[in-house]
Amino acid sequence: MDILNMSFSAGAGVLNFADHLQQLAYLLAAILFILALANLSRQKTAQQGNNLGILGMIIALVSTVLVAVLQDDSAAVLCIVLMVVAMLIGGSIGVWKARKVQMTAMPELVAMLHSFVGFAAVLVGYNSFLATPGADTELNAFHMGEVGLAVFIGAVTFTGSIVAYLKLSGKISGRPLTLPGRNLLNLAMVIASIVLIGWFITTRGVEAGILPLAILTVISLVLGAHLVLAIGGGDMPVVVSMLNSYSGWAAAMAGFTLSNDLLIITGALVGSSGAYLSYIMCQGMNRSFASVILGGFGSDTSSAAPAEVKDYGDYHETSAEEVAKLLKDAKHVVITPGYGMAVAQAQFPVADLTKRLMAQGVDVKFGIHPVAGRMPGHMNVLLAEAKVPYDIVYEMDEINDDWSEVDVVLVIGANDTVNPSATNEPNSPIAGMPVLHVWEASRVVVFKRSMGNAGYSGVQNPLFFNDNTLMLLNDAKSSVDSILDYL
Ligand code: NDP
Repeated sequence: MDILNMSFSAGAGVLNFADHLQQLAYLLAAILFILALANLSRQKTAQQGNNLGILGMIIALVSTVLVAVLQDDSAAVLCIVLMVVAMLIGGSIGVWKARKVQMTAMPELVAMLHSFVGFAAVLVGYNSFLATPGADTELNAFHMGEVGLAVFIGAVTFTGSIVAYLKLSGKISGRPLTLPGRNLLNLAMVIASIVLIGWFITTRGVEAGILPLAILTVISLVLGAHLVLAIGGGDMPVVVSMLNSYSGWAAAMAGFTLSNDLLIITGALVGSSGAYLSYIMCQGMNRSFASVILGGFGSDTSSAAPAEVKDYGDYHETSAEEVAKLLKDAKHVVITPGYGMAVAQAQFPVADLTKRLMAQGVDVKFGIHPVAGRMPGHMNVLLAEAKVPYDIVYEMDEINDDWSEVDVVLVIGANDTVNPSATNEPNSPIAGMPVLHVWEASRVVVFKRSMGNAGYSGVQNPLFFNDNTLMLLNDAKSSVDSILDYL
């Protein structure tokens, strides 16, 4: 009897130690994730933020495996082997994808990754239900509610992200699917899901619970797909950011079902930062946050909209040689890049141009619009890739009052983000969108390929026809390379 008691208390001791170890490791990992996010918000510290996040994830993974082993010796070897094999396969695919992906295809990769999180949350929900189905216990309602919510949010995220991926990669049409009464349809599906979760909570045992759970899963899958199908393909980046948020909440719900504190914290961090990012994007584009959440976003506007025909007069074309001369004579130069720089992959010659001008004593800065390109931070990432020093890269708000002191602005592949009609044409589709006031500088040089194409919003840009604007019509990379030849 004594021997039995001893071994029992020894076992309990091991469990206790494992629990404490896990709590400590999770706390440390959670702090590292928060620090990672804080550091990622600045270009200068972003690399450090990434490293802190990686360290947090290593601690989380290692401690989870270690504790699983400490708690159940019998499954230790199998557990470690399975986890290591899964991590090696997943890690290899991740590294391969990250190396291969083009910066312009980043939003679709992110969309695809979100679908995995959604799918994982659904699987965790089902697993948790099968392991512990409804029973007459005090905490039953919480447990079943968590499972229902995890499956609901996970399934919406799963199909929503897949549709976003298909639209962004051009595998299905980007046109919004506008079924009659689609908002009512969405509302009906949300209400049905709530009712089903209510029914699911009252069930006892696997056989009784599987029916409402299965119907809930099907409805949530349809809801996710329908929500995103209804949104114009060109507006998908904001939706991807929103789905990023949903995937965070799905992970947090999975954390509840698994009683895993770290997953709850991490999910909440992803959920809230994704929601905040969507909010910043909406502000940068002067759109309503509510319309994005309700899934109505972008159905009335589309990047495919034809350019509005309005006569703004003549434009003045220039040459690389003339621009090089302007730059040599300038004291203060600002470069405002946009989506075209990403398309042309012009960031490397732009970085060379910057270096060359700075070496000649010219003060060079970059002005970055919050939604320049096709995802937040798009330009910052490209400039960091080309090793442009962080301290000359300014946010729109930091630079927007100083244009009168600027001699030459190089607008490299930007259009909507420098469109003055956002400020002075109340009927313009982009009216109210905050823009870089480049036209207030002495000289503006716009790099684009032709006068025929409009920007993302499809509206014409009167900036191109101003007296102090020169148009350099060619691929941005070729143009910058040619300028370098004359410097
Ligand atoms: P725009 O998309 O408005 O314009 C791109 C410009 O680049 C065009 O003038 C185009 O003209 C030019 N261009 C394209 N390819 C090349 C090339 N190879 N060489 C030279 N020029 C080129 O760009 P902005 O960055 O100014 O604006 C971003 C837009 O995207 C905004 O409307 C924003 O609201 C929207 N958006 C941004 C998101 C984000 O998170 N960043 C998310 C969703 C939408 P041409 O074809 O004649 O060369």
